[in-house]
Amino acid sequence: MKIMSINAGSSSLKFSLFNMDSSEVIASGLFERIGIEHSNCIIKFNGQKVEQEVEMNTHTDAVQILLEKLISLEIIQSLDEIEGVGHRLVHGKDKYSNSVIINDEVIEDLLSFKEFAPLHNPANVLGIQAFREVLPNVKMVGVFDTAFHQSIEKENYLYAVPSDWYKDYGVRKYGFHGTSHRYITDVLTKKIGRDDLKIISCHLGNGGSISAIKDGKCVNTTMGFTPLSGIIMGTRSGDIDSSIIPYVMEKEGMNVGEVLDVLNKQSGLLGISEKSSDMRDIIDGINEGDEECLLAFNKYCRVVTNYIAQYYVELGGCDVISFTAGVGENSIPVRQKVCENLACLGVKLDLEKNNIHGEFGKISADSSAVSLYVVPTDEELMIAQDTLRLISD
Ligand code: ADP
Repeated sequence: MKIMSINAGSSSLKFSLFNMDSSEVIASGLFERIGIEHSNCIIKFNGQKVEQEVEMNTHTDAVQILLEKLISLEIIQSLDEIEGVGHRLVHGKDKYSNSVIINDEVIEDLLSFKEFAPLHNPANVLGIQAFREVLPNVKMVGVFDTAFHQSIEKENYLYAVPSDWYKDYGVRKYGFHGTSHRYITDVLTKKIGRDDLKIISCHLGNGGSISAIKDGKCVNTTMGFTPLSGIIMGTRSGDIDSSIIPYVMEKEGMNVGEVLDVLNKQSGLLGISEKSSDMRDIIDGINEGDEECLLAFNKYCRVVTNYIAQYYVELGGCDVISFTAGVGENSIPVRQKVCENLACLGVKLDLEKNNIHGEFGKISADSSAVSLYVVPTDEELMIAQDTLRLISD
């Protein structure tokens, strides 16, 4: 049984084709610059990589070319082998708390929620429509980034603003990265063999969020109405006092969109270090004696620590703290610093076990009061698994 997992952007389309009998990726790749000059595709399979400039004016062209390539490269023999297509969908507002079979209503909803994810929801629809045209008989499933966070209670998802903002305009915490946090929860539940775990899941990538999870359900998360809030990220500020926005608008003669752009694209690690948004460069900078890099690193780890501490109290203790995504899976110094900051909670890292990159592992010392794990995330597999489950129902 083969399932395709799709992440459609406004000018790009990422895919992974899974053999669901083994949960292995048969082929994966990226179609870029759709509708722009010099569009190209990259397909990886069987240890090989094919990279080619191809003309694509629409997402439908990209899907058409993708399927032709899968056949011509003999990755599949016939299109009938693809039994389901799962789409990563960004914003399901408070209507979608689970993955769903995609029908007209889902498409209409995605478009009607576009104010909440203007870059992503319309692009997700382009991906869906392209597959509908090219593979009209294949069932499709939508997996929302916001869905896992729908179990968060009102006390945690409401902001302390006039309640009409929530009732009339949907101003509330939605949270993102839900598919990743749910995948981490599934892996830990299976590996540890308990479904009543209290987990603090740290998804530390270029974007980043932390979730508090109890009995498999999300209790709180750091991203909010948009992905801008919460922890410091590569280029996003995370939480700030909102009064800074009009103050800087006046000082810099910027409009609100321009200030938001700075908060999304020029802040975070990049803003503080004035060097890079990439944690590897920050660590290199520290090794070269760069004070701003050290400040960015320390502040990043401080904010992560503070949220873990908050969620520790909110969960009434914690069984597992897990690290995932680019920084969480790979940065030994970030995990070390955060765990050192948490020493007063009895958190104790095993420095030797922490010496891993991008692989699953328990990294806590035997005497640690909380188990610490590195769990590589796999949102594409989660999407494929949901797709298989829903099309088999
Ligand atoms: P995204 O949020 O875009 O999916 P990723 O989860 O791929 O991002 O994370 C990308 C980030 O991971 C990079 O910007 C970099 O900061 C960090 N990263 C990747 N590899 C390493 C490494 N070996 N050490 C430290 N940080 C790393």
